[in-house]
Amino acid sequence: MPRRPSLDSLQASLRRLRLEEKQQILDWLAQEIKAEIELAESSMIVNTTITSSNAAIVEQQHYEGKTYQLEKRRCGKIECICMNGEISEVGHGPYWYAYWRESGRLKNIYVGKRAPWGTTNRKRQLTQASNS
Ligand SMILES: [Zn+2]
Repeated sequence: MPRRPSLDSLQASLRRLRLEEKQQILDWLAQEIKAEIELAESSMIVNTTITSSNAAIVEQQHYEGKTYQLEKRRCGKIECICMNGEISEVGHGPYWYAYWRESGRLKNIYVGKRAPWGTTNRKRQLTQASNS
């Protein structure tokens, strides 16, 4: 078991600090807590989307504060081939979707076939487009 100081001994040590040192600890602790909550929220985003019955996640990336998911989705049209079978096989795509939180609300947008970060696939597609 890793050595972990008890709360009592920590408090005793902290009590011996000077006022501005206590203030520094307070600021640091506030940042630690904020970071931990943000981390928990970003994993909540993942859980929310994974349980969606209309999407199959192919790949997941974190980029510039957002969660990007490469998903195959059902379009919802009754006649469409995507409505019968496993989403991972018959779903449309895969396409990238971005997820993030704004004032506590989960938001998402359609990104498209290309991820916002550069890939070698992109170069290949551009070359093909200019040849045709
Ligand atoms: Zn469809």
